[in-house]
Amino acid sequence: MDVELVQQLATDKVICMAARVSTIGNKVQDYDQGKDRGLINFLMRDRHGSPFEHGTFTFRISAPIFVVREVMRHRAGMSYNEESGRYRELEPVFYIPAGDRPLVQVGKAGQYDFEQGTFQQWFVASEAARTAYVTAWESYQSMLAAGIAREVARSVLPVGTFSTFYVTCNPRSLMHFLSLRTKSDTARYKSFPQVEIQMVADQMEAEFKRLMPITHEMFVKHGRVAP
Ligand SMILES: Cc1cc2nc3c(=O)[nH]c(=O)nc-3n(C[C@H](O)[C@H](O)[C@H](O)COP(=O)(O)OP(=O)(O)OC[C@H]3O[C@@H](n4cnc5c(N)ncnc54)[C@H](O)[C@@H]3O)c2cc1C
Repeated sequence: MDVELVQQLATDKVICMAARVSTIGNKVQDYDQGKDRGLINFLMRDRHGSPFEHGTFTFRISAPIFVVREVMRHRAGMSYNEESGRYRELEPVFYIPAGDRPLVQVGKAGQYDFEQGTFQQWFVASEAARTAYVTAWESYQSMLAAGIAREVARSVLPVGTFSTFYVTCNPRSLMHFLSLRTKSDTARYKSFPQVEIQMVADQMEAEFKRLMPITHEMFVKHGRVAP
C-alpha cells in the first residue's frame, strides 16, 4: 500500500482559533495559545466537532481495488478522484498477501478473529492469486490487441488489481475514518477492519499525528471517537 501526503493545511492552532471565535469574536489579540491543549481536550471530550473541520489533508493512495472500494464508502467530508480504466490502460500491479498476513478466519460473522495459518496455506493463497492474475492480465491484453475498448476489457481484471486515487479530507472526517479503519485495544468502540485497509489507515494516521499532535493525542485519549 502506497500512501503519500501530497498537500496539507492542518494545525492544532487553527482548530483552537476557530473554536475561540465563539468567545473572543474578532479580538484575535485575546487569543492565548497556552490554553490550546486544554481547549482541544475539552472539544474532543464533549464532542464539539465542527472546529475540527478546519484543515485539509490530500493523500495519493495506491491500493488494490477492494481496498479502494472500502475507502470510498466514507462519504462525509471526503473528496475523491481515481484513475480511469476507460481512459488509460491499467498497470499489471496486483496484490499478493505477505507471508505474515493472517490467513485463517476463526469464529462466526461479527465475532471472528484471524490466525496466521501455515506456510502451506500461504503458498496456496499466493500461487492461486498469481495464477488468476496472469490469466486475467493475458485476457485483458488479448482484448486490447483485438481492438476492444479499455472500458470493456477491464471487466476481466480482479479486485486485487491496484488502482490510484486522491482523497482530500478534513481532520474530523479523517478521525471518523480512522475510528473505523484501524484496530485498537484502547478504542471505545472496537472496529475490526480488514488488514489491508488498516495498512492504508495507519499511514494516514502517522501524518495526522505528525501535523496535529495535540488533536491526535486527545483523539486517542478519548477513545478514538471522532468528535
Ligand atoms: C469493519 C467494517 C465492516 C463493514 N462491512 C460492510 C459490509 O459488509 N457491507 C457494507 O455495505 N458496508 C460495510 N462497511 C462499510 C460501512 O457500512 C460504512 O459504509 C463505512 O464504514 C463508512 O462509514 P460511515 O457511513 O459512518 O462514513 P461516512 O459516509 O463518512 O459518514 C460519516 C457520518 O455521516 C453521517 N451520514 C453520512 N451519510 C448519511 C446519510 N445518508 N444519512 C444519515 N447520516 C449520514 C453518519 O453519522 C455517518 O457516520 C463496513 C465497515 C467497517 C468498518
